Amino acid sequence: MGTIVCQTCEATIAYFEDEKVTTLYGQCDGCGHDDDGEKGE
Ligand SMILES: [Zn+2]
Repeated sequence: MGTIVCQTCEATIAYFEDEKVTTLYGQCDGCGHDDDGEKGE
């Protein structure tokens, strides 16, 4: 089973099926709004 973890606060965002144990990093909804790298409108 794979897990998606927030790279900022390390909260578990979601799980997905996988043959092996995998951890991917993303951003949760709370941290996604505070991104200094890419600013839109
Ligand atoms: Zn977060």
